Amino acid sequence: MAVNPVFVATWRFGMDAARAGWSRLAQGATALDAIEVAGNLTEEDPTVNSVGYGGLPNAAGQVELDAAIMNGVGHWAGSVGGLQRTRKPISVARRVYEKTPHTMLVGENARQFALRQGFPEANLLTPESEERYHEWLKTQAGADVAHFDLGPTNSQPPKALTPDDHDTIGLCALDANGDLAVGCTTSGMAWKVPGRVGDSPIIGSGLYVDNEVGGAAGTGHGDEMMKACVSFRVVMNMERGMTPTEACVEALRYLMRKRPPEAHDHYGAALIALRKDGLYGGAATYSGFRHPDRLWQWAVATSAEPVLHEGVYVTLDRNLDTLE
Ligand code: ASP
Repeated sequence: MAVNPVFVATWRFGMDAARAGWSRLAQGATALDAIEVAGNLTEEDPTVNSVGYGGLPNAAGQVELDAAIMNGVGHWAGSVGGLQRTRKPISVARRVYEKTPHTMLVGENARQFALRQGFPEANLLTPESEERYHEWLKTQAGADVAHFDLGPTNSQPPKALTPDDHDTIGLCALDANGDLAVGCTTSGMAWKVPGRVGDSPIIGSGLYVDNEVGGAAGTGHGDEMMKACVSFRVVMNMERGMTPTEACVEALRYLMRKRPPEAHDHYGAALIALRKDGLYGGAATYSGFRHPDRLWQWAVATSAEPVLHEGVYVTLDRNLDTLE
């Protein structure tokens, strides 16, 4: 029996991805193909300064991309971390699965793999992202930023992020056949320590799917989120009977419970989820993602025109649906 396709994407800029992904699904594409098409669309958009081409660089001025894709059918995944000078990293991630016996490739060897797979060498910096890097560099007077003099360390609260320093496109799709796939692609946190890999390409952290249950994807402070395997937890929560929103809320509370309060006052973490029956949801930590300049918004397409949702905002003990 044909199922109504659903496509969910993080952030306001995910509206275009949701529209493109859904229209592919409506034409009969698999969830996996729709995820790749939607991911590529955002990766190739130079105005999105946290994903793919035009993404903000690390402390040494290099753009290092993280991306992963996971298919509910066959429960397979492909992933790349710290990929430089290559466009369309989510497609490279797919090739890792399809063309190697492995799941994840990183760094220079991931780039060499991409080259051999026909992804040409590319400059990922735009004039705008380069200018932003030089502006940032001016604020770092005296620090040897390219060589790890970046603090705070893991024993201190994470550094508060400014609204436009990061953001990941997380993607969940349900196709007409009732199959699920998920994806995640990002340039990670701007000005990160060179070599840093975030949560986005880590299966179970940035994304996870179980074709019998549902899928989830995350965005936010990856160094925090990867400590709690949040996407895996969301899917397990749905397996235990929670709605997608309840599942996201519980996973965020778990993360907050595990980390000291002074840590979660400084970070934002957000999750989207899509269940096998087409029900979807999302949630974000109140701190970090309630900022007036960067409300937690996520796009859902169940027809040609996607709808932008906001909230649910979560503290350790309360849900705050939307800002008044
Ligand atoms: N999760 C990404 C990272 O930590 C950033 C983000 O989604 O905002 O690299």
